Amino acid sequence: MSYDQGNIFAKIIRNEAPAARVYEDEYSLAFMDVMPQVPGHTLVIPKSAAENIHEIDPEVLSHTVRTTQVVSNAVKQAFDAPGIMIAQLNGSAAGQTVFHLHFHILPRFQGLEFSLHAREMQEMDVLQDHAERIKTFL
Ligand code: AMP
Repeated sequence: MSYDQGNIFAKIIRNEAPAARVYEDEYSLAFMDVMPQVPGHTLVIPKSAAENIHEIDPEVLSHTVRTTQVVSNAVKQAFDAPGIMIAQLNGSAAGQTVFHLHFHILPRFQGLEFSLHAREMQEMDVLQDHAERIKTFL
């Protein structure tokens, strides 16, 4: 399957779709997941076109992983989370639904479970508020 320039994350990169942005640099972008599995659920993506981990330029991947580390640290502090789960899915068989490489950052709390995919959209106001909270720790 070839990369689809019309996918929702490509539109967010081009500013053609809204997102509660948290962090951005030359290579990568972080924003709040619109259907958070837990409050603070953040996504980190490379800015270049790549469907999954197998297709990304290794140099861009290292920048994106570095961004994931920096943003994860801020999410942990902003949500006072004892644990952080990083998830990254490749291919529909693995559960990938948006075909632009992304890392999920998920605050985790002892005993608080969640399903693998959330189905409820969060209000943009709430997502913006969470993004602002995270930004104060960047
Ligand atoms: P995956 O199943 O790993 O491909 O995850 C895709 C994620 O993208 C899901 O957690 C969705 O909630 C999230 N998502 C889909 N559309 C948007 C959007 N417009 N803005 C932010 N997150 C989105």
